[in-house]
Amino acid sequence: MKFFKKIAEWVRKYDDTHNYTCDICGREVFAGERVCAKCYKALPWNNGAICPLCGRKVKEEGVCLECKERPPEVEKARSALLYEGEASRLIIRYKRGDKYLYRAVAELCLPTIKEQFSDAEGLVPVPMTARSKRKRGYNQSLVLCEELSRKLSVPVVDAVEKRRETQSQKFLGRKERESNLEGCFHVTDRAAVKGKTLLVIDDTLTTGATVSELARTLKKAGAEKVYAFTATSVENKHPFGKE
Ligand SMILES: [Zn+2]
Ligand SMILES: [Zn+2]
Repeated sequence: MKFFKKIAEWVRKYDDTHNYTCDICGREVFAGERVCAKCYKALPWNNGAICPLCGRKVKEEGVCLECKERPPEVEKARSALLYEGEASRLIIRYKRGDKYLYRAVAELCLPTIKEQFSDAEGLVPVPMTARSKRKRGYNQSLVLCEELSRKLSVPVVDAVEKRRETQSQKFLGRKERESNLEGCFHVTDRAAVKGKTLLVIDDTLTTGATVSELARTLKKAGAEKVYAFTATSVENKHPFGKE
């Protein structure tokens, strides 16, 4: 087992520095680079006005209505990119079998995490049920966490289980999303969580219901503070209510 792990580690290290094409457009890049400068610049970065709590793009800086009505369970959430254009295509590919894209996704995430969450003591992946993991073959949140952990030298805290399958959140409203998730996460290693400042890592934030439920579970188990970072987030088109 140890031997195979060593080989896997060696292959991973080799791939880290022997990549010659852009993961987005396929153009030639310098060895080890994941995304070419042109694609990097053209990505929909989430660097304009955002809600200071959920981190979603808003038209004018200020706490959005959803966060005002119910403050998120996380101290603050941030995302590097908007879930649009090439960024959403990259995430969809990453979740639908192109596992190797974790390197590109991590590379795009690193600057925001370094800037916003320097006090995080552990990176928490969003768990999947064993059944879902078998179906996809990997947990994209955990794979991303592991890469970020290597780059940031912050440990992965893989101490939560998802025991119950939940309905797809896609067609559910905010309230339905919350009740759909209620009680689906369980902390399996309280000692790893207690008193810690933790950063939940996921690919996309839509309403924040998933990270909120996970944060609630972690805090109940004694976590000191919980943040959330997602690679992408969906713009809040009506941050102050519908006109
Ligand atoms: Zn490119
Ligand atoms: Zn908000």
